[in-house]
Amino acid sequence: MSEKPRHAPLIQFPIVDDELVIGDMPLTRLAEQVGQTPFYAYDREAMSRRVRDLREVLPADISLHYAMKANPMPAVVDHMASLVDGLDVASLGELRVALGSGMDPAEISFAGPGKRDQELSAAVAAGITVNLESPGELERIAVAGERLGITPRVAVRVNPDFELKSSGMKMSGGPKPFGIDAEQVPAALARIGELGLHFRGFHIFSGSQNLKAESLIEAQDASFELAYRLADDAPAPIEVLNIGGGFGIPYFPGEQRLDLTPVSENLAQRLDTCRSRLGDSEVVIELGRYLVGEAGVYVCRVIDRKISRGQTYLVCDGGLHHHLAASGNFGQVIRKNYPVVKADAVNDGPRETVSVVGPLCTPLDLLADRMELGTAGPGDLIAVLQSGAYGYTASPHLFLSQPAAVEVLV
Ligand SMILES: *Cc1c(COP(=O)(O)O)cnc(C)c1O
Repeated sequence: MSEKPRHAPLIQFPIVDDELVIGDMPLTRLAEQVGQTPFYAYDREAMSRRVRDLREVLPADISLHYAMKANPMPAVVDHMASLVDGLDVASLGELRVALGSGMDPAEISFAGPGKRDQELSAAVAAGITVNLESPGELERIAVAGERLGITPRVAVRVNPDFELKSSGMKMSGGPKPFGIDAEQVPAALARIGELGLHFRGFHIFSGSQNLKAESLIEAQDASFELAYRLADDAPAPIEVLNIGGGFGIPYFPGEQRLDLTPVSENLAQRLDTCRSRLGDSEVVIELGRYLVGEAGVYVCRVIDRKISRGQTYLVCDGGLHHHLAASGNFGQVIRKNYPVVKADAVNDGPRETVSVVGPLCTPLDLLADRMELGTAGPGDLIAVLQSGAYGYTASPHLFLSQPAAVEVLV
């Protein structure tokens, strides 16, 4: 038999007696504690460890922000708020959770296209920084500030004028709904000055889920250069330069972990130059997936086991309505299996090749396509790893009126 491509090692959780241990508890016991399946479990210590390890490799004076859209569960956000230097929100709903975490509003920023007037007013009232995505938004936030008698704090999100093509992935450039085109930024900066807004700096986000150090370095270098160029027209000193993030995590067989050492070495050099070019600006990296993605599992229970024309199906109580990404329908071009295991037979015992499907009446509801798992049947727990980011809140819960999942932080 040919060698099957292997998943990257599941190093984020201990395995005791061949069972996943999440938050110090064997998963079958945790399922009893949660009291229902399906559920998502996020491991507090795994998040803490990730931030600690990251800070160890990154230059000390880089600020680390958590991009909440990866996992906005309030308990997760509260925990992340205790670990990072700031939070990035993308809606009023996320802003409320961010403020509830106790994070200093001065360290909260709000990006995303189509911010409504109430969202802009809420941001101004809260005293957070709004990353402007268009000239229209700039005018509307000025009106909000005027009405409230509060000076809005704004940064300009830039849609870069360079195009980065690394490993086939186009990361920025061209027409985008996000950010103000670099060539329009000087006019926006002049307008910020005219309107007397508090200018904080630039936000340049060039991509997501990147596992290649070289392309991250390329993006960061280009972002610094762009910021220097644009800074000439700034109405005030650059207090904050947010250079995005995009650090990826491995999901699929054959993917290698991101090597952060060269990224970090390059950043250290860049920070030196930045100090001479921009003064003592705070340089921010914003990360979602990288901080929480490996700290979560989605757990569902086998309801039925059937064999159809030689292929074995484990039909579970959970599926794409809770975990769209694992089904392969959240932006993936080619469907590949997430790492999926039988919760208490991770590596050993009898194995068989099965497809794990959910209860929805659509062929898209597929959690594992012909994968080798520990032999399982009704009542057994199936765990989908790498599920701490873009899981529950990135899924169509209402589809087919199935029961909701619960989320726990342990
Ligand atoms: C989605 C998003 C992030 C988080 O991306 P990850 O790949 O989860 O790290 C950060 N910043 C902005 C502006 C985003 O839109």
